Amino acid sequence: MEKQNTQETLRDIWVLGDYRNYFQSRVTLQILARARALAKGTGGRVCALVFGHGVDEYAREYIAHGADLVYVMDDPRLADYSVQTYSHLLTCLAADHQPEILLIGATRFGQEIAPRTAKALKTGLTADCIDLEIDDKDRLVQIAPSFGGNLIAKIITPAARPQMATVRPGTFQERPHDDLAKGQIIRLEVPEDLPEERVRCIRSAYKPAKAQGIEKADIVITGGRGMGSKRKFKKLFDLARVMNAEVGATRPVVYADWISHDALVGQAGKHIRPKVLFSFGISGAIQHTAAVTDADFIVAVNKNPNATMMKMADVAIVADANQVCSGIIRAIKEKIRD
Ligand SMILES: Cc1cc2nc3c(=O)[nH]c(=O)nc-3n(C[C@H](O)[C@H](O)[C@H](O)COP(=O)(O)OP(=O)(O)OC[C@H]3O[C@@H](n4cnc5c(N)ncnc54)[C@H](O)[C@@H]3O)c2cc1C
Repeated sequence: MEKQNTQETLRDIWVLGDYRNYFQSRVTLQILARARALAKGTGGRVCALVFGHGVDEYAREYIAHGADLVYVMDDPRLADYSVQTYSHLLTCLAADHQPEILLIGATRFGQEIAPRTAKALKTGLTADCIDLEIDDKDRLVQIAPSFGGNLIAKIITPAARPQMATVRPGTFQERPHDDLAKGQIIRLEVPEDLPEERVRCIRSAYKPAKAQGIEKADIVITGGRGMGSKRKFKKLFDLARVMNAEVGATRPVVYADWISHDALVGQAGKHIRPKVLFSFGISGAIQHTAAVTDADFIVAVNKNPNATMMKMADVAIVADANQVCSGIIRAIKEKIRD
């Protein structure tokens, strides 16, 4: 592998490309956007890494989304994701080039590869970050829920390098695709001797995701314990249908099995940024509201006018959540009929 630890590379921010299910999973693009902003502090370049076979289009995509440079390892032996091989390659590259920061999406892929790589590089790792900053000593501040989500910790890696973090999908917003963006693609040779695989992929199948998840929806309808029961909660799906919206929920609702875990909004779930958020029967605990502050406009319905969610809302309706939900559905249906 080409060795390149110049003063410049010592300040680089690396982002590992996770391009599987590219159109649904945008986490690499989201991290690239944040890395661009962080690079203003570190003064280095933003570099993406792509391992796989026939992966040129992803390298170009990463440049269009903010990478200055993409290291590509393209080889038929890398066609299937393998934690051992990928983390081995990542470790060797990072040891040779010595980036300042290494960021990976907190997907299942990232959750497997990041700790192994951190251990091999003898550096620290903060998992599941919800924000990243550069402090006045040019160190990466890795911000993540800790102690079961009861605290938000700011973590630094004082001495070891690279400073490593995984980042929760949906935390940052990707930059718009820029066809004119300039960047360099460096193709690296894949070593002959790759680690012997302990896991072999026999077959893989594409699992289609929902057309739009709650992270991407323009309108999100969230429901909390105040909806009263699973049966009543179902009304939110009717409302979502007539509004072309997605449904999210608080933790008690997910735990009560009124909706699947995918819909959990909050520190332990998804971060959303809809244009309009409807919040029904939700008190507004910090673990929930931390993930909705990027909504452009909030309508909250609650019996209690002093609920935190009501205070955060642009429009706060003091009423029974079920009645308001049914009323809106009726009004929209009548409007459609007219
Ligand atoms: C480590 C940890 C992590 C957590 N992570 C998350 C997370 O990711 N996401 C999350 O949501 N929570 C999370 N929680 C839980 C969080 O602290 C709150 O307990 C939870 O958000 C409360 O959910 P809720 O608003 O549905 O219920 P409640 O707090 O019980 O609020 C119900 C609301 O409904 C109102 N209400 C009652 N009846 C009606 C009615 N008929 N009409 C209108 N309003 C009505 C009430 O006035 C009240 O405001 C976490 C907690 C911990 C400790």
